[in-house]
Amino acid sequence: MTALDLTGRCFGRLRVIRREGSKHSFSGRPLPLWRCLCDPALGGCGAEHLATSGNLLKGSTRSCGCLRRELMRVNAAERLADGRIGGKRIEPDPALFDETLRRYCAGELSSREAAAALGFSRETFFRRLREVGQHQERRPSHGKGRL
Ligand SMILES: [Zn+2]
Repeated sequence: MTALDLTGRCFGRLRVIRREGSKHSFSGRPLPLWRCLCDPALGGCGAEHLATSGNLLKGSTRSCGCLRRELMRVNAAERLADGRIGGKRIEPDPALFDETLRRYCAGELSSREAAAALGFSRETFFRRLREVGQHQERRPSHGKGRL
């Protein structure tokens, strides 16, 4: 088996700088390791990373890890749109929340409009309504205590 020289080759954001030893696979076979630069010219972050020939050639290693971190940030941004991020809730401006709630309860806004105003999905909006205990069914019969 001839050792493939990957020096200078680019894989995703990684540019191979030099060979740097080997690690052993589960079967005991030596896997050549390569010191790579997560090259800013390739969209990388400038960090160095060690990768095996196999992972580089298969395309499973394409950055020092920053690419994966960025993808996770994109997912987080999608969760944020639902009013949640990493299990932590994003609170809308309380004044906006109260005002939107008031207008929803007064029938000025549909649940879709109210949710959109707060940057929530309707599901999240209804959940928040239940939490603040102001979820009122807009029924004609509603009118407890009416004289
Ligand atoms: Zn990187």
